[in-house]
Amino acid sequence: MLYVSTRGQSRPQTFSQILLGGLAPDGGLYLPESYPRIGADELAAMRGMDYAALAQAILSRYADDIAAADLKDLIQRTYTAQTYCNVRPGSDAADITPLSTLEPGLHILQLSNGPTLAFKDMAMQLLGNLFEYVLAREGQHLNILGATSGDTGSSAEYAMRGKRGIRVFMLSPLGKMSRFQTAQMFSLQDPNIFNIAVRGVFDDCQDIVKAVSNDHAFKAQHAIGTVNSINWARVAAQIVYYFKGYFAATQNNDQQVSFCVPSGNFGNVCAGHIARMMGLPIRQLIVATNENDVLDEFFRSGVYRPRVAAETLHTSSPSMDISKASNFERFAFDLAGRDATCVRAWWGEVDQGRAFDAKQGGYFDRVADYGFVSGSSSHADRLATIRMVWEKYGTMIDTHTADGIKVGLEKRDPGVPLVCLETALPAKFEDAIRAALGREPERPAAMAGLEALPQRSVSMDNDAAAVKAYIAQNC
Ligand SMILES: *Cc1c(COP(=O)(O)O)cnc(C)c1O
Repeated sequence: MLYVSTRGQSRPQTFSQILLGGLAPDGGLYLPESYPRIGADELAAMRGMDYAALAQAILSRYADDIAAADLKDLIQRTYTAQTYCNVRPGSDAADITPLSTLEPGLHILQLSNGPTLAFKDMAMQLLGNLFEYVLAREGQHLNILGATSGDTGSSAEYAMRGKRGIRVFMLSPLGKMSRFQTAQMFSLQDPNIFNIAVRGVFDDCQDIVKAVSNDHAFKAQHAIGTVNSINWARVAAQIVYYFKGYFAATQNNDQQVSFCVPSGNFGNVCAGHIARMMGLPIRQLIVATNENDVLDEFFRSGVYRPRVAAETLHTSSPSMDISKASNFERFAFDLAGRDATCVRAWWGEVDQGRAFDAKQGGYFDRVADYGFVSGSSSHADRLATIRMVWEKYGTMIDTHTADGIKVGLEKRDPGVPLVCLETALPAKFEDAIRAALGREPERPAAMAGLEALPQRSVSMDNDAAAVKAYIAQNC
């Protein structure tokens, strides 16, 4: 399997070659040159598989330059009941992503049972093991530099802690994360994890990462890499749970399901798109946004108009507060019929801070063929949905999952089972739960007293040079 760039001007690469990198040299994102189709017999065989076996069956098609036995070992060590132990009462951790049924035809797929209580652990835990394996094989090391407003950073740190050949330098906006998220990250004592709290906002942190990455000499000298959401292996790992969720919600492979997906950078739902392209019987992919509705605007109007930082709202579903959806270019490439010239023209506009209109040239007419619909949600909607799900079903959900369920119920095709992806547990967002329900969220036993643990971080001015000096000193 070779991977091509959405901008069409980079050489095709193998899975291992793109694993540790970010963007393609031409500025595009990597995608498989074609999607493997899963035939009816193969789909039938997959129905009975446990999570690790299913992951092996799917990921071996994408990571085909890793020896099958080694990939199997990495997957077996990743998807364990011990790592994904924070399941809801009554669910079996051995399922890794248990399906909860609210009522017939309405389900929640639990993706947030990993160490940081958010779905990013589903892919990131595998990434930690893949990185360690490939770095050891090539005799290399890597210094991961990232920016986080919460979920990505903690997920990356819990995936990379203690891994040989890897250090993590994670920037976060000082004082802007929740107490829980701060405690989760800053309480890690592993010597290969470095938390850097920047006096600024999340976009300042992201700008520092860009500035450091654009210093090619520094980047090469210090083996700087990233784990942001455009990483192909993360998207690939997320394909697996669409299959798992599909099998759990159906009795046979003639049935269809719809998925609703709380979305920000479009990584999660991009994996759903690829599962559908592989032949999984998915009816709708329902993209849910919060007030930062750049994706909803596209799926309603055909116009993709990224926002500037100042237009990006700080909401109660903060992991979806994005100004542009970094993985969206992958779907756009498919929508354009894989015409890289078209994608280059579109992102020529985007990279200048402008919009493009996919109605021109008739591309937008094909969106429905890909199953996409969308909607958005507000703070009041989130609280009302959390309350509704609690009162009607006795299930507590977080604000992001609430955005998904709100939009999912609005846009679903009646008669088709709806699987709502749970992207975080309510324990991470205590203030919103208190506002919605007047009570504290349930917290997994393993997280009791988290905020009281000793914390470890350094604070810095919003200054790329200072960050570079710190990395140089500590790597
Ligand atoms: C990252 C995240 C999202 C958005 O996922 P994308 O893949 O960026 O679309 C939604 N909810 C939570 C809790 C997240 O952490």
